[in-house]
Amino acid sequence: MTALAPTASNLSLPQWRRNEPVAGSSSPALPPAAPESVHDRGALLDSHGRTIRDLRLSLTDRCNFRCVYCMDPEVRFADPAELLTRDEFRRVAIAAARLGVRKIRLTGGEPTLHPELLAIAASLRRETECEVALITNGSRGRREDVEAWKAAGIARVTLSLDSLRPDRFARLTRSTASLREVLACLEHAISENLTPVKVNAVLLRGENDDEAVAFAELARRYGIEVRFIEWMPLDSGHAWRPDRWVPASETRTAIEAVHPLVAVRPADPAQTARSFAFADGNPGRVGFIAPISSPFCGACSRLRITADGKVRPCLFSTTEWDLRPLLRGGGDDAALRRFLVDAAWTKQAGHGITTPEFRQPPRPMSAIGG
Ligand code: SAM
Ligand code: SF4
Repeated sequence: MTALAPTASNLSLPQWRRNEPVAGSSSPALPPAAPESVHDRGALLDSHGRTIRDLRLSLTDRCNFRCVYCMDPEVRFADPAELLTRDEFRRVAIAAARLGVRKIRLTGGEPTLHPELLAIAASLRRETECEVALITNGSRGRREDVEAWKAAGIARVTLSLDSLRPDRFARLTRSTASLREVLACLEHAISENLTPVKVNAVLLRGENDDEAVAFAELARRYGIEVRFIEWMPLDSGHAWRPDRWVPASETRTAIEAVHPLVAVRPADPAQTARSFAFADGNPGRVGFIAPISSPFCGACSRLRITADGKVRPCLFSTTEWDLRPLLRGGGDDAALRRFLVDAAWTKQAGHGITTPEFRQPPRPMSAIGG
């Protein structure tokens, strides 16, 4: 499919074929066409030699937290009519699976706020045979919820947790949820065997950067992996500052002073985290996701679909491709697959955060899906 300019001669085509920008967006609907030889491969490839195997599907941009590094209290959410429906998520996931995607992570915003989370997870699991994973803030994970996640086919869970101190947890999340609830969700996920259960933590200078060892001890207590993610300039309040950012090396040094670590060879070369075991043989692990101090773009295998149906080839993309005109304008599954192949081909080589030209993308992490 070639991207068409909207001219009088093609006005008889459906809007998605005319490639007109969608209301409220400056992006054209269609990505430029990838070479036919790429389409012939029937896979999601990019022009830098990478293959896409992981799909991040953001179910909603809404959240019940307002984490200080992610979401401004005044954040505005998309109109629900703009968000993909359950059937649209399903169509996109099936198309991606036909093109070689093997893992789908349900994310958000907070995916557990989506009223059809279970139905979506179950249909993706059944119809794509991909591994379906969930990332959540853990505030809505009572035992019965976690059992239902498992019954719906969710194979593993990552919890995001940024402080192990109740008062800080409240301050950082700006929510009415409690640390106790999130830790209970963690225990339910472990007992339901939604493994490997992981905890993601973002450390901020002067806020929670003194908790590296406490998080390592959480990993040791539960035999899980705690992964420290470097804070990225993707927050809706544009509050990211270099002096509030904590490099992974500093966190690792703090942990190693108490618990010596041994590097673990990555099972998957596209893995974003550098994982370490504890030298004393404790089964827990710590991992470091260091997009700023050690970018891993060269091994990236991810493609993101936002809750409002935009394909984002990179977290830091400034161009995104809108699936809704195609999905809502009669595009068939073959057209959908062509669209995804074209969009994947536009994936940029790297995020360029450390270059002088870098500009924070307008869309925040919570509206992309982490
Ligand atoms: N609400 C769910 C949660 O918190 O797990 C899923 C969405 S959240 C956007 C996914 C992950 O992105 C979380 O682990 C969160 O800590 C991380 N995250 C959000 N904003 C970030 C930022 N600016 N830099 C680094 N990580 C961020
Ligand atoms: Fe919500 Fe997750 Fe962002 Fe926190 S990190 S505000 S829980 S989307």
